[in-house]
Amino acid sequence: MLSFIPTVCPYCGCGCGMLLVVKDGKVAGCEPWQRHPVNEGKLCIKGWNAHQFIDHPDRLTKPLIRKGDEFTETSWDEALTLIAGKLTALKEQSGPDAISFLSSARCTNEENYLLQKFVRVVIGTNNVDHCARL
Ligand code: SF4
Repeated sequence: MLSFIPTVCPYCGCGCGMLLVVKDGKVAGCEPWQRHPVNEGKLCIKGWNAHQFIDHPDRLTKPLIRKGDEFTETSWDEALTLIAGKLTALKEQSGPDAISFLSSARCTNEENYLLQKFVRVVIGTNNVDHCARL
């Protein structure tokens, strides 16, 4: 069975509309959303191939923590506890402006908004930027 799921391309901030082609319950391709107001039926090469990472065997699906020279899979609880501890220690030791964050065009607007809010309110610095400005 074939179905077409409307969504937005995850690769950059343009926000092109696309249809995920789902065949027998698995994403099998991407097609441009013909009547989407942003891209009007066009996709760049990244958009045409945006589905390929979904089931790719190299895709990271669990957090990794470096232990020596190795990266070890861990739980989200352990990873987030480690990050929170390191950020807290760095802030106490060197102040909030010793910390900076870089966000991504591959996040949603809402995720980017939450990150800058976290940086300003919780960390206490304006050191936040976005990969699209690099
Ligand atoms: S199709 Fe290309 S231009 Fe459009 S959002 Fe995706 S990466 Fe950006």
